[in-house]
Amino acid sequence: MVVSVRTYDQVGEAANALSSDREAYFLAGGTLLMRGVNEGSRALSTLVRTTDSSLRQIQSSGSRIEIGAAATMSDILANRELSFLHPAARAVGGPAIRNMATAGGNLFARTPYGDLTTAFLVLDAMVNFAGGSQAQLPLGQFLAEREKQPRPLVAGISIERPTSAAAFRFLKVSRVKPERLSVMCMAALLPQSGGRVQGARVAYGAMAPTPIRMTAVEQALEGVTLDESGVQAAAAAANTGASPATDAIASEWYRREVAPVHLKRLLLGQGS
Ligand SMILES: Cc1cc2nc3c(=O)[nH]c(=O)nc-3n(C[C@H](O)[C@H](O)[C@H](O)COP(=O)(O)OP(=O)(O)OC[C@H]3O[C@@H](n4cnc5c(N)ncnc54)[C@H](O)[C@@H]3O)c2cc1C
Repeated sequence: MVVSVRTYDQVGEAANALSSDREAYFLAGGTLLMRGVNEGSRALSTLVRTTDSSLRQIQSSGSRIEIGAAATMSDILANRELSFLHPAARAVGGPAIRNMATAGGNLFARTPYGDLTTAFLVLDAMVNFAGGSQAQLPLGQFLAEREKQPRPLVAGISIERPTSAAAFRFLKVSRVKPERLSVMCMAALLPQSGGRVQGARVAYGAMAPTPIRMTAVEQALEGVTLDESGVQAAAAAANTGASPATDAIASEWYRREVAPVHLKRLLLGQGS
C-alpha cells in the first residue's frame, strides 16, 4: 500500500494539513504508528509530520511547565526541572523507545500504555492544540473525547509543578521485561497541611480504557495522615471507578486484587 508522508516546516501548516484531511494521522515518534504502517493498515495512508523544533520545547512559566508534544521521554529525562516526572518517563519502554516516544503520542496510546499520561492527570494537565479554534482542554476531557474525529494536532501539555517533589508519587507494576508493559500504574499528588492530606489527586493507568482520576480514593484521602491506618479507607476504595481489562499482561481479576496493595505502597511512600 502506498503511504503518503507530508512534511511541513511549521507546526501551523501541519495543523492545517491535519484538519483539512480527515484520513490523515500525525506522525510523532512513530513507535505506535509505524507498527500499523508496517502491518499495512489501510487507515494509515496519509501521515503528516513537522520539523518545527518549537514542538519539542520544554518551558517554565511561573508554577506551570509547558512540555512540547514532540518532546521525547529522553528529553524529559534530560531536563532537571522535570525531575519529579522522571520516574514516569523512565517507566516508558526501554532506552530506544524512550528516544523516540513523545509526550504527545503518549496521550493517544491505548491501554496498557499511557504511563506518562497517568502522571500528567494528577498535575492538573491542560492539552494545548496547534491551529484551529479550540485552544485548550483539560486532560481528563481530552482523554474522554480522544477517539472522536477530527484528530487535532496537539501542540503541548501544560502541567502544574508540584509545590514539593515529595508530594508527587508514581508507581508502575509490570511483569514482562524489558518492555515492562503496565499491569497498572499509579500517580498521586499528595499536598499536606499540618501533616494531613489536602486536595489529593490520584490517577491510574491500565485500569480503564484510558488513564483515569480515582475520585473515590481522592475523597477517602481528604484530611488523613499518610500512615497505615490513615490510608485504610483509600485502599478500601482502590477499585471504585476502575474498569480494568483482561489482556496478555494480566486478568481483570488480578488487576483488581493487587490494586489496593499497590495503592497502599504508593501512599505510604513504599513504591518506586
Ligand atoms: C516496544 C514498546 C514498548 C512500549 N512501552 C511503553 C510503556 O512502557 N509505556 C507507555 O506508556 N507506552 C509504551 N509504548 C507505547 C509508545 O511508545 C508510547 O506511548 C509513546 O509515547 C507514543 O508516542 P509516539 O511519539 O511514538 O507516538 P506515534 O506512534 O507517533 O503516534 C501515536 C498516535 O498518537 C498520535 N499523535 C502523536 N503525537 C500527536 C500530536 N502531537 N498531535 C496529535 N496526534 C498525535 C498519532 O497520530 C498516532 O495516532 C511502547 C511502545 C513500544 C513499541
